[in-house]
Amino acid sequence: MELQYQGRTLTYVINRKNMKTVRVRVKEDGIIHVSAPPAASEAFIRRFLLENAAELVRLLDNVEKRKADAPDYTDGSAFPHLGGTITLCFHAAPCPTVRREDTLHIFARTPDEAQLAVRQWEISECVELYKCINREVYEHFRKEGFEVPLAHIQIKEMISRWGSCTAATGRISMNFRLMRYPIESIYGVFYHEYTHFLHQDHSPQFYALLLRMYPEYRRWDALLK
Ligand SMILES: [Zn+2]
Repeated sequence: MELQYQGRTLTYVINRKNMKTVRVRVKEDGIIHVSAPPAASEAFIRRFLLENAAELVRLLDNVEKRKADAPDYTDGSAFPHLGGTITLCFHAAPCPTVRREDTLHIFARTPDEAQLAVRQWEISECVELYKCINREVYEHFRKEGFEVPLAHIQIKEMISRWGSCTAATGRISMNFRLMRYPIESIYGVFYHEYTHFLHQDHSPQFYALLLRMYPEYRRWDALLK
């Protein structure tokens, strides 16, 4: 279904759900997904969308921007890595993936091959980096006298969260996609999740401890929003 707003066409789909209120999400497909109770009329939903159209347009623009920023994995193109960019250099003959300064040399002839090689490289970098940061953050908490376990890190690709902590089992899940952001932001997520070993909520005590352990938290976390 479509809706006109200031010369733009907004596309939306309605999902009927057993819920009390109307909820709206802009997804990566550039479509507005509306969850609505069975009783909400279509006219009501359209009115609701129009009332919030300015915000929806802003979210849709963000999706467009992310798509434009998405790497195309061609020879000479760049992809984001730890807050900077790395340029791809294709090699037609088999060779190991090697990074020299800001260039990644890969054995690839097509964007599909390149994407695969980049991903393998990113994963191995991610495993190494998260291992180091994990130990460092753990030791920092211990040094300050806090009883935290050395977390078992699970690397996941998540859409809606950067990390999560299961205090009972000592596990922390970390989003693989953080590898595109500055290392300080990755530290921020580690400190956030480690603080959950001591406070399982987002109470003022939680933030007091988090900011004590990582005073720059808010600055680097803002970048992930
Ligand atoms: Zn949290």
